[in-house]
Amino acid sequence: MKADVLVVGGGATGAGVARDAAMRGLRTVLVERGALASGTTAKFHGQLHSGARYAVRDPVSARECVRESAILRRIGPACIEETGGVFVLLPGDNPGYPGRFLPACRAAGVAVEELDPAAIPEREPGLTRHVVRAFAVPDGTLDSVRLVRACAASATASGARILTGRSVTGLRLDAGRVVGATLEDGTSVEAEVVVNAAGAWAAGVAAMAGCRVPARLSKGVMVAVAGRLVHAVVSRCRLPADGDILVPLGGSTIMGTTDAPVKDPDDGVADDTAVRAMLAAGDELVPGYSSAGSIRTWAAVRPLVGDVGGPASPSSPSEGRQVSRSHRVIDHGEHDGVAGLITIAGGKATTFRLMAEEAVDAVCVALGSPRPCRTAREELPAEGGLDFAR
Ligand SMILES: Cc1cc2nc3c(=O)[nH]c(=O)nc-3n(C[C@H](O)[C@H](O)[C@H](O)COP(=O)(O)OP(=O)(O)OC[C@H]3O[C@@H](n4cnc5c(N)ncnc54)[C@H](O)[C@@H]3O)c2cc1C
Repeated sequence: MKADVLVVGGGATGAGVARDAAMRGLRTVLVERGALASGTTAKFHGQLHSGARYAVRDPVSARECVRESAILRRIGPACIEETGGVFVLLPGDNPGYPGRFLPACRAAGVAVEELDPAAIPEREPGLTRHVVRAFAVPDGTLDSVRLVRACAASATASGARILTGRSVTGLRLDAGRVVGATLEDGTSVEAEVVVNAAGAWAAGVAAMAGCRVPARLSKGVMVAVAGRLVHAVVSRCRLPADGDILVPLGGSTIMGTTDAPVKDPDDGVADDTAVRAMLAAGDELVPGYSSAGSIRTWAAVRPLVGDVGGPASPSSPSEGRQVSRSHRVIDHGEHDGVAGLITIAGGKATTFRLMAEEAVDAVCVALGSPRPCRTAREELPAEGGLDFAR
């Protein structure tokens, strides 16, 4: 099998890369070891970020979210639920934080509006009655599996091949450059460039070519209770910390997340301490959250590739919380002296399209063939099928 671009990983990032590359006229093959969207993409918190969460500490990520959430609303409205978002300051939270939050949101371009706390009980009857200040922002929720299927359908419509249920087990090198990959069934794929979009597993894929991905892995635990206990995505108005967002998704309300360093990308254990902490955090926002209904718990791992931001603070003690949530494109020709391999890692589901655009721009540079990106303009198909070639 021959391709211009081989994409390793079929999460939001890999599916976005395959769509973008195929739409630029590149012969594209995507290989995913499980089903599409079976990695972190299917286990995320579900939020379409307006950028407000990152405005104070991570303005680059905030601006990316502003721009990409607007694009996604245009090209993939079927993947989004317009729940809106509310940031609430509770007694005990730093009363000075809104003084930083409001101007930072405005500077990043987040449409933010202060609400009268007296109006909150009518707007969000499930929320605690102790809201001190509240701010509306254009957060929403994202159906990530639908998004990935739509990207894959768009990619195949532009000629890409999507192979699921097969691992890349080796990268093939010739004269110090990556020239393709071997799959677990022995199939060989020749490629001009391999894009490593393997998320938390990206370091393992890069290591197949003797390359390094400088990322730390961070695990986030989430809990969901049955029923929609809030209408909007509700966030604490404070520096990002554990357990500060409630997301109404499908028929449940999800509290998350934590941020704990892990070594193993397959460490998907939702440990008891973290689960209890998430339930307690849910109770602070919605009294009775922890006894609302059947409880589901899970964890997902994120690769953090950004720079460490501002200094630690008591309300954000975890080092992982200080790392930018932005993404990084690594050309391993420059980074490790091994051409033909590009890693795209970090970021958010909300910014997957931008990540894909930057990765495919790097592919075009490597191929010496500049081609414009069209993914911000062309709508995604409303439904993505599951019948991909094996
Ligand atoms: C706890 C948590 C909560 C989050 N919440 C949000 C949120 O609310 N909103 C938001 O926008 N973002 C959120 N994110 C971030 C978001 O989930 C990720 O940025 C995004 O889903 C990553 O997609 P990906 O395609 O890069 O990785 P993945 O979805 O993990 O995809 C990588 C794929 O590579 C495959 N793979 C690995 N090795 C191989 C191999 N050798 N051969 C073939 N395939 C391979 C895996 O099976 C996997 O499917 C959250 C992340 C975490 C950890």
